Amino acid sequence: MTPISKLSIRAALPMLFVFLAAAGATAVETPAEGDRKPLFTPEEVRAYVPKGPSQRYRYFCSDYNQVYDGPAAHFLTKADPVEYAEFLAKLRADAALILAVPTEGYCVYPSEIGPVYPSCVNRDFLGLTIRELRKRDIAAFAYVTLGWNTRYAREHPEFDDGGTLCFCSPYMDLIIAYSQEILRKYPVDGLRWDILWQSGRCRCDGCKKLYRDMFAEELPKDWNAAGWKRRERFKEEKVAQAVRRLHDACKAVKPSVEIWHNQLNIDNDVPLSAMTYVDMAYIEWADPWGLLFHNSATPKNGFIVGKLENLGFRTMRLCLALGGHGYTYIKARHETALPPVSEEEADQWRRQRGWTDGLARGNARSRAETIDRLAPFYEMVSKAQPYYEDGRPVYHGVGVVFCDATRYKYPNFSRARYTSLLKTLGNAYLKQSLALEYLSSYMLPERDLSRYRVLVLPETSGLKPKELDALRAYMRAGGKLLVVGDALRHDEQGEPMPDFALADEMGIRFSEIAVDFNAGGRLSGRNENAAEIRVADGSPVRPSFAISIKQAVTAKPTAGTTLIEMRRGGKSCPLLHVNALGKGQAYYLASSDSLGLLQETIDALAGARPVTVAPADKQVILTRQEKRNRWILHFMDAGNCTVEINRDFAAPAKIAGQYPAQRWTAKLEKTDAGTRITVGGDAGNRLLVLQ
Ligand SMILES: [Zn+2]
Repeated sequence: MTPISKLSIRAALPMLFVFLAAAGATAVETPAEGDRKPLFTPEEVRAYVPKGPSQRYRYFCSDYNQVYDGPAAHFLTKADPVEYAEFLAKLRADAALILAVPTEGYCVYPSEIGPVYPSCVNRDFLGLTIRELRKRDIAAFAYVTLGWNTRYAREHPEFDDGGTLCFCSPYMDLIIAYSQEILRKYPVDGLRWDILWQSGRCRCDGCKKLYRDMFAEELPKDWNAAGWKRRERFKEEKVAQAVRRLHDACKAVKPSVEIWHNQLNIDNDVPLSAMTYVDMAYIEWADPWGLLFHNSATPKNGFIVGKLENLGFRTMRLCLALGGHGYTYIKARHETALPPVSEEEADQWRRQRGWTDGLARGNARSRAETIDRLAPFYEMVSKAQPYYEDGRPVYHGVGVVFCDATRYKYPNFSRARYTSLLKTLGNAYLKQSLALEYLSSYMLPERDLSRYRVLVLPETSGLKPKELDALRAYMRAGGKLLVVGDALRHDEQGEPMPDFALADEMGIRFSEIAVDFNAGGRLSGRNENAAEIRVADGSPVRPSFAISIKQAVTAKPTAGTTLIEMRRGGKSCPLLHVNALGKGQAYYLASSDSLGLLQETIDALAGARPVTVAPADKQVILTRQEKRNRWILHFMDAGNCTVEINRDFAAPAKIAGQYPAQRWTAKLEKTDAGTRITVGGDAGNRLLVLQ
């Protein structure tokens, strides 16, 4: 247990009463004793089995954060739990994220710990809404603000961490206490926090202690003396510690409630190691690649994609086919806790608040527009859900090794460049209907690597000795390793090493990083050893296109064969080099600049693809539902197409169902390489069940 101490709860109590007096509680009648009875008994809450986010696919959040600057007494005065639940039902949602402690810093339930919206002192909006949602089989997830809390920040400027509140300060005890209070009093199905940033500006006692614990020195007044590396390490630990504390506190109260954070994903400067302390992963802007990455590199109970309705049916379906759970939030009126009813009301509100363009406009829709955008999709998912549940893509035989310590080699520990490379590569394959699998480096020693035809390290660095040993063993047993660019050249702290961590195995020695390699920005594919480029069981690497390389690593061969060389100032050095190790090989590609060359090299090493689609511009995702012992083919586009499925990856014998049932046909036949599926007809949003 890591509960807030009794003492600090008592210390916080007067705040509530002070606030009530200040808000002019005249409008709030003194409640009769019976009204204060909790809506749920402790036994009921304990016994309740949550229908968690990993079981739900259609979430919605009515977002009354930062929609109104006026007094707290004006909030939720017209909020009606029945109307709220009815709106969710109209959206065909199966889960609601209820802002229990929104960013304004007031609770929407009668909290014993912190300030409560006056309208919710005698009328428990959270509890009543949960009850109404339950009647409609809609799960209730509670939201607690973390980094932003307007009221607390106003009262405690000393805990300002540069835009967010400090996670080392007593503020964190309050957030932990809210989270535990909600879990003790309400039968919630999930719990989520928001705003996970820290800047390192705060100098509170908690910050001083953490810094001393980490570096055995006093926290410096500013970061100029200590340097940005210390600052970034410190920020990272503040975030990791907060995520860990919240996890431990919640699991101590009710372990079966699944928890997650906003901003804990590859797009944010947060340590991904903190994902150990959540049950679900979450990424916004419904990024199919982000979903693919997290589902394989940081596996959790499920993965949520946010702002789904912004994307259109096709991308929404792609996200769900790749294993996503759908979610969106739309701004709500502060009195009703729901979006404006009509388009006219919404239009007026948006103009008033200046939310007329881009992102802001996209988040501020009327109820009618929200239903128009989301309900048809959620309706379809409600019917096709059995085909999405527990599904995961049939991965290509390519494993892309990810190591979060790679970012330590970049300024401010930003992983932006690294992510961009991983993303470009993943999206290029996804476009060709292939799902790349990402492995976190910590998985290397504990996983059977023999199923990967090739393991790729695109600029990946910072591996631990036992992870490098796992790669050596993989190669000796017959595996192919492809090291790309400046990979394996930095240690776990991001410091450059004199040579590649696997220099002996790769048969090369590091010389330097050459920028602007060819004056013209083009490298002609010197492929004099064409026969050598043909790898044992793959197709030849043909740099038949002009390769544009701005930056490459120059290295000297010590063993093995240079397959493609590049020239600089009259001297040649390897662009693609191979060295044998046991039954396998280490390949080295000296630059990650050319996506074409990288893909062609991977393809040559990986051999057969799981899925080949004709025409090639149609996208089809093959997934496996292990528990149901079947495959699903998700057709992203309408029209006729053919899908060849390689038997090494999936060997279905028959078509066992289709969605939708009408207006299209499908045929299965056996071929030398496996299975051919031919589909025709004009139905959209199709999927095929194979067994
Ligand atoms: Zn602090």
